[in-house]
Order: sequence, then C-alpha cells, then structure tokens
Amino acid sequence: MISYQLTRFGRPLERAESSPPDPASSEVLVQVEACGVCHSDVHLHDGFFDMGNGRRLDLAKGRELPLTLGHEIAGTVVACGPDAGEVAVGMRGVVYPWVGCGECPTCLRGHEHLCPQSRALGVTRDGGFSDYVLVPHPRYLFEFGDRPITLACTYACSGLTAYSAVKKVQPMAEGRSIVIIGLGGVGFAALRLAQAVTSAAIVAVDVNQATLQAAAETGAAVVDARAEDAAKQIRGLTDGGAATVIDFVGSESSAPLGFKTLATGGVFVIVGLFGGEFRASIPLWPLRDLTVRGSYVGSLTEMRELMELVETGVVLPIPVRSRPLAEAQDALNDLREGGATGRTVLTPQRLH
Ligand SMILES: [Zn+2]
Ligand SMILES: [Zn+2]
Repeated sequence: MISYQLTRFGRPLERAESSPPDPASSEVLVQVEACGVCHSDVHLHDGFFDMGNGRRLDLAKGRELPLTLGHEIAGTVVACGPDAGEVAVGMRGVVYPWVGCGECPTCLRGHEHLCPQSRALGVTRDGGFSDYVLVPHPRYLFEFGDRPITLACTYACSGLTAYSAVKKVQPMAEGRSIVIIGLGGVGFAALRLAQAVTSAAIVAVDVNQATLQAAAETGAAVVDARAEDAAKQIRGLTDGGAATVIDFVGSESSAPLGFKTLATGGVFVIVGLFGGEFRASIPLWPLRDLTVRGSYVGSLTEMRELMELVETGVVLPIPVRSRPLAEAQDALNDLREGGATGRTVLTPQRLH
C-alpha cells in the first residue's frame, strides 16, 4: 500500500509504504481508483484557516500525524470486516467521507458531517491519497452507475457541497436568479446542478478567463469579478438584484461582492473557506430582509439524494483532469496557485 501523507503541516507530502489494513467489525477495505484534490486539502496541508486580521483557526489541534489526505474517494471493495453485512467484494462505489461519531445529538439528527468528534476520511482519519482506504461501514458507499470513476469520486465533496448549497437557495431562486461566485470544482458542479434542477437564471462570477469561457459555454451569463462595475453588472443581469448568491470562494473580496448584489429578501450562502472577514451595515439586514448563512459539505441523506439524481442522468458532468498518485503534492500546489478549471483527480491504480 502506497500513501502520500501529511507528516508536518506546510511541508511536502511524504510517500509511505505499508501493508493494506485488515478491515475489522463493520469496516470495508476499498482499493482506491480515483481521489479528487480539494481546496480543503490545501487548508489541511497548511494546518490553519485564515480568520482575517492576522488571526488563524488552528487545524493542527487534535489531528494526529501522519495523516493521508484525500476525501473524494471512489474505488472497489476488496475485503470486508465480519460485521459488514451484505456488501459484496467487487462492489464499486463512491465513498461518503463525512463520517461522524454516530452517537452525539448532531449525528443522531442525521448531521454526521457536522459532528464535533468527526471521523471524516482524509480529514481526521486516513483518506484516499493512497491505493487503499478503510471505510467504517458499507452504508457510506454509493454505487455510481456508468459514470467514469474519475467523475464519480467528485460527488463525495464537490458534488455534495454544491448540491447542499443549491438546495439551500432553491426555494428562493425558482424563476428568479442564482449568482455563483467562484467556478472551481465545487462552483462548477453547482452551476451544472443549478442548471439541471432549477428554473433560475444563472450568473457565473470568476476571475479566470478560461473558467468564465467554460461557464459561458454552458449557457450561463458571466461576469469578471475583477471588473470595477462587477456588482452593477450582476444586478443588471438579475433584474435589479440577486434573489440568491452562493459564494464558493469565501474571501474578503468575494463575500462583500456577493452581499452587495443581493435583492431585498435575498439569500446569501457562503461555502468557500478562503478566509478573512467582511463588514456589513447592520440596518441593511432587517430593512432588506436578508439571510446570510453558511453551508458545509452535506449530510448522508443529501449524498443519497444526489446519487439518485446522478442515476437519473440529471447531474451534468464537470471538467475533470486525471493525474497519477505520485503527483499529489504537485496537484495541491497547482490548486493553491489557482487557475484550474474543474477538478483534478488522482488515479492510484494507473502508473502514468
Ligand atoms: Zn473537499
Ligand atoms: Zn457525532
């Protein structure tokens, strides 16, 4: 078993060789065929989130190293623990990685992804930058039909995060508008989902010309976030103000832009974890009846709903680029520097 592990925060991932673990109790061992590289991996690699004004949220606390990153995992079940039930060796699935303790009030409400004692794969437990991963229970595995496995793995984070965010704005957006800021892997997935499942007009906002071009080709209206009149352009494209905005960047430039473009009664959902802080005048919230909320990945139920949508063919593909597992660190570096359209996916079973 070959894994690319975080051994010290901020340092290059290290290659480690070991024997694949034996699954115990309800665990299943999955041979990883595809693992997407996510912005969260970049933050985990850094060991902190930027909270603005020089403050940092320390991600190192309570996290044991070495840790194998990678939470967008798909592969084949190769061994099962004695209590894993009916799951068959040979089943190919995408893994829901947002595993909780299963016992706390948050988990019992079905929000394992928000559990304070998270056991999330690739976040607090070893993930998919490896050729094998242990999954705690077969209920976290989802079949993905005839989709390419390099696309299927992206449903576990970018697809799910996009789905959960679109679901939060959908009631307000129908027949009106959704502004999507940041068209990386997650934002692009949201664009495609929103086009498939809502009747909203979509405005895509980004700083990268190739990304804006790719978004325009799907039929979305596009705005360059660097334009001085970006907010005005967005309001012009949304009948005077956006009914809903989803910010997949979450930076000190994207959040104020999103907030500024909201219509009265508008809903603003922040997903991106780029970092920083933003200020907004308090009276605007009541006077304009605004809602601002966050959205973090998605629940197991939402994963099931998403995979049902995938099954019906409604979920449109996002651009995916495959790279060998050995390029895990390069893929992280490229993502940190930005400019990639869609998702980069590591393929541990391919040599090149
Ligand atoms: Zn992710
Ligand atoms: Zn829990």
